[in-house]
Order: sequence, then C-alpha cells, then structure tokens
Amino acid sequence: MSSIAENLEGVRGRINTAAQSAGRDPASIKLVCVSKTKTPAEIREAYTAGQRAFGENYAQELKEKAEALADLNIEWHFIGHLQKNKAKIVAPIASFVEGVDSLELAVALDKRACGKLPCLIEVNIGAEESKGGTAVERIIPLAKEMLTLPNLDLRGLMAIPPYDPDPEKSRPYFKQLKSLLDALNAELKLESPLCGLSMGMSHDFEAAIEEGATIIRVGTAIFGERF
Ligand SMILES: *Cc1c(COP(=O)(O)O)cnc(C)c1O
Repeated sequence: MSSIAENLEGVRGRINTAAQSAGRDPASIKLVCVSKTKTPAEIREAYTAGQRAFGENYAQELKEKAEALADLNIEWHFIGHLQKNKAKIVAPIASFVEGVDSLELAVALDKRACGKLPCLIEVNIGAEESKGGTAVERIIPLAKEMLTLPNLDLRGLMAIPPYDPDPEKSRPYFKQLKSLLDALNAELKLESPLCGLSMGMSHDFEAAIEEGATIIRVGTAIFGERF
C-alpha cells in the first residue's frame, strides 16, 4: 500500500471512531480530500485508494488538475474564498462550492453554473480580518438572496476557525456554526431544512464530527505537509 493509501485508511478509521463515539452514522460524513499544492499523480493515488471527493482553493489550480485528471470520476469541491471574477472558471468544474461569502459571488456562480450547483455559505466565524467568509450578521440575508438564484442549491454553512493546534480550541466555533445553521433554518422555514455543515480539518476533525459536521476537509493528514 502507498503511504497516501495508508494515511487515507487511518483518516477513515478516525472518522469511524469519532462518529461512533458521537452516536452518528459514519456514512453521514463526507471526507473531502484537500489536494491543494499536490500533484495529479498524488491525487490519482488517493483516487485508486477509493477517494472520490477532492478539494482545491485556487481556481487556476483546480482547472489544471481537473484537465489532467479528466479520465477520473472526481467530485471537485472548491473550498474557501473565491474571487468573483474566477466564478466562470470554477462553476463549470466544481460539484460543490464551499465558500460563497457575498451576493456578488453568488450571482456570478449562478450565471455560470451548468445545472444546479450545490454550495455552502462561508462564515468568518472568528471575525478574522485576514480571512474570507461572510460576517455572522450577514448569513440570513445572504441565504435569502441565494435562495432566489435558480442555479444555486444552498446546502448549509462552512467555516474555518482561527487556527490553534489544540482541537478543543476549535470546538466552541464548531458549536457556534451548528447553532447558526439552526437559527438560519428557524428563519427560513424551508420544507427540507439545510443540513450541510462543513467544518474540521486534519488537526480537529474529530471534534467537528462530534459537533455535527457533515463534511470535513482534510489535507495534511492524507498527503503530508505542504511545502
Ligand atoms: C488547506 C485547507 C484545508 C485542509 O487543511 P489541513 O490542515 O491540511 O487538513 C481545509 N479547508 C480549507 C478551506 C483549506 O484551505
């Protein structure tokens, strides 16, 4: 087994353990393998080991890899902040956009999407100046506006808490994102409530699963350090 395959197996084991301890079905948690800076050959290895969902955070890099790996049935997730003028590159390739943080971006994605594009609102949960994501107070108005766009399929919320190596420091932010989703659902009163919660990375995904994550985004624990 390659080390990427071994790492993937280790991450899947950790997902199962965390899900079980939280009384959740591990199948209700999607693992997005974050492949930014990694080569198409490395992505191919993870794919051979059974991984299908991959995450990228630069439009041009996503495009190049999607072209190099067009023979594979990859589900590409765009993760994090996306510039509005890159929507035209990302919308036709991505199966999921985890990082809508403005109405302008939502409108640009809606215009370029081929069919219904699943997406999440990115929330700047730590109110960090250096980070993308919409302010907490903007979630409800942005969601209402996005629901009027015919080609966007709003699924929920995504956030990256301020970095701290101790996963327990992320937990309050995970709890907060879950309650923001509950508050959004209480406001929207949709026939089927939004259930997407993308939170948790290599160092803190167990805590995120315990707090209700339905998508985790894991890079380093699968591919090793990025240089
Ligand atoms: C890089 C990145 C990740 C993965 O981080 P790791 O610590 O390598 O698991 C997750 N989400 C986003 C938005 C990222 O940019």
